This record gives sequence, structure tokens and C-alpha cells, in this order.
Amino acid sequence: MAGLLTLNAGSSSIKFGVYLVAPEPELLLLGQVENLGPVAQMVLDHPEKQTIEIGPADHSTAVQAILQAIQPALQDHEVTGVGHRIVHGGKTFTGPVELTEQVMAQLETLVPLAPLHQPHNLAAVRAAQAAFPAAVQIGCFDTSFHQGHPFVNDAFAIPRRFYEKGVRRYGFHGLSYDYVTDALKREHPILARGRVVIAHLGNGASMCAVKNGKSIGSTMGFSALDGLPMGTRCGQLDPGVLLYLMEQGHSAEAITHILYKKSGLLGLSEISHDMRTLLASDDPRAAEAIDYYVFRIKRELGAMVAIMGGLNAVVFCGGIGENSAEIRARVLDGLAFMGLSLDGAANEANEQVISDGDVPVLVIPTDEERVIARALAGRLMP
Ligand code: ADP
Repeated sequence: MAGLLTLNAGSSSIKFGVYLVAPEPELLLLGQVENLGPVAQMVLDHPEKQTIEIGPADHSTAVQAILQAIQPALQDHEVTGVGHRIVHGGKTFTGPVELTEQVMAQLETLVPLAPLHQPHNLAAVRAAQAAFPAAVQIGCFDTSFHQGHPFVNDAFAIPRRFYEKGVRRYGFHGLSYDYVTDALKREHPILARGRVVIAHLGNGASMCAVKNGKSIGSTMGFSALDGLPMGTRCGQLDPGVLLYLMEQGHSAEAITHILYKKSGLLGLSEISHDMRTLLASDDPRAAEAIDYYVFRIKRELGAMVAIMGGLNAVVFCGGIGENSAEIRARVLDGLAFMGLSLDGAANEANEQVISDGDVPVLVIPTDEERVIARALAGRLMP
């Protein structure tokens, strides 16, 4: 049978999946190489949990380690398709696309819009093209889900010529929102036709206002920095702060490093980017970082309900959204006036429906790899 490979190259990890081609692709192997740097590990999640120390690894050696690790799972299945998560599709790409040389050249031009992600995404494409020259290679974009959102959520109020040049609020985490809205359509079709706020709370974090299955607003904008505070990224920031830092003599490179790598939960707590570590800490800085995180989510939730004119469901996903009953409870605390109230036991148990108020609150584990595998399968077996 034919096999499929998915590659999702982030700034400090590369996730991968191996599937057999089927209308609903059959998962053979799922894992990631984490902590790229001096002490990287390969962590397998399926078919069983396993951690393998692989020592120092950059993106290129990690891809090679992945290509080796998938061989036993593939057995004699030939890889006929490779699907890549690509963070930025710009204005052009509204859905999955075959990665021809022409498309790759267009994607290269978007590198300045996502400097810490896009180059790794494109390098993974090159490595996979070399390893599987006969396979179809497709790109699935984090921006596509938000294409078509209204002008007011697309524009910044700066001179219009910048908008025409692509300075827009693209929105990201589109593959995750795609998976969640599809799961809602399958399992809760009435809710899927309503007004839903999805909170993707992982190392990266954003929220999306989804009306009748379509994004009408996202907390992330031009870059993957805006909106919610994240593990190491700042979230919403007054642009005056940037001007001040520049005037103080910080270079663009230094500011990029601060905002992407040294901010967010890590920056505020000065302890860790990892929510589990912060929740377990009794340091007041950890508590303040969590307070800020919860406050920003609450604030965005209220704004999204206002722009949608109501609320029919809230969905949590991502590592924190799927696993932390405490964060979910704190985000929804005091929102009974909006119909939001949690069933404590269901919340503690990470059940799918965790509410006991008028507005359902759900936990839907996201699966970006499956969205890519489905897009590939759709292409290979029309
Ligand atoms: P990524 O965006 O890299 O895919 P994840 O979606 O895996 O990241 O989310 C990672 C975050 O989820 C980390 O902050 C981690 O601490 C948090 N997390 C995972 N499990 C739990 C848990 N049980 N309680 C609180 N936070 C958790």
C-alpha cells in the first residue's frame, strides 16, 4: 500500500506522522523531535510512548533522524505523498497546494513575514523532496483558515499602501482550527453552525472567533507574536514599546529575539515557558505570569463574543487547553453571566463536554498532522 508522511517543522521541534493512504488515513507512527539543540530527543506518541535521546540535533539532522526512524513503520509501503505544515501562505494560498518550484519561490518571498518558522518549513520540504523524489509534496498553511475574514479583522489602521503590500492580520494555527471545526461538524453539527470561540493554548497560543465554520477574527495577526502571551512570545504589545526599544539602541535582531524567545510566560516568570512548571511553582512571579495569561484569554473571549453577537460554544485545545483543568476553570471563572459554567468533575477528567451552563464548553484534542494527512489522501485518491 501507499504511505504518507507529514512533517511539521516548528522553531524548536519537528513533528511527524506516517499514515497509510485511505479516505480516513490510517496512523502508523506519530512523534516529534523536541528541544532541537545540544540535547534533542525523539518522542514517539504512537503506536506506543517512547523517548529516544538523539544528542545534538539541528533542523537538518532532525529531519534525517526522522527519515531513518520511519523506515520500520513503513515496512514495504512506498511513500507516495509528503505533506508539510507551512506557517505562512500569504494572501495567495487559500488551501493545500502542490509544492512546485514556482510555489516554493513564492513561499520564499514570505520568509520575512515568519522569519523563525518559514525557513525551517521550506528546508523540510527540500529534505523530503531529496528523500522521496517521486512523491507528491503538498503544503498546508496556517494562514488559509483565516482567508476571507472581514476587512476589519484583516487591516491595520496604518497608511493603506502597506495593506496592499501585505501588511495584514493573517492569523495562524489554521490547521488546528480546521481540525476542531471539522470535529465539531461531525460530532456537534448544530454547534458547528453557531458562534464558537476556539482557544488553542499550546506553546504557541491563539484564539479564533468562528461563525458558521468560518474564521471571522483571530488574536494572531501579521506575525505569530500578536494576541495571547505564549510560552516565550509576548502576545499583544503597544507598538510604542518597539519604538522605545529601538530608540534605546536595540537592533531589530535583538528585539526579535526578545519578543519571540524571551517573553511570554518565560519573560514574566523568569522561571519557565512551561505551564506545568509554573503551576507547580510557589514563586509569586509564576503566579503573576499565570494571572496575566488568564486575564488576556478572558479579555479576548469577551471581545470575540461581542464581534460575533453571541456565543454558542467554547472549545479548548492545545497542550494547556486539553490538559489543564485549572487554567480552563480560571479562564471561565466569573463568566456565568455569559452562560459559561463548568462541571467541576468533567473538567478535572478532561472530558469532551465540561460545562453545566447554557453554553457548552468542550475539550477537543487537536490533530494538525491528521489535517495534513487528509489533504494528502484527498489528492492521492480523488
Ligand atoms: P506546541 O505548541 O509546541 O505543540 P503543546 O500543544 O504540546 O505545544 O503545549 C505545550 C504546553 O502544554 C506546555 O506549556 C505544557 O506545560 C502544557 N501542558 C501539557 N500538559 C499539561 C498539564 N497537564 N497541565 C498544564 N499544562 C500542560
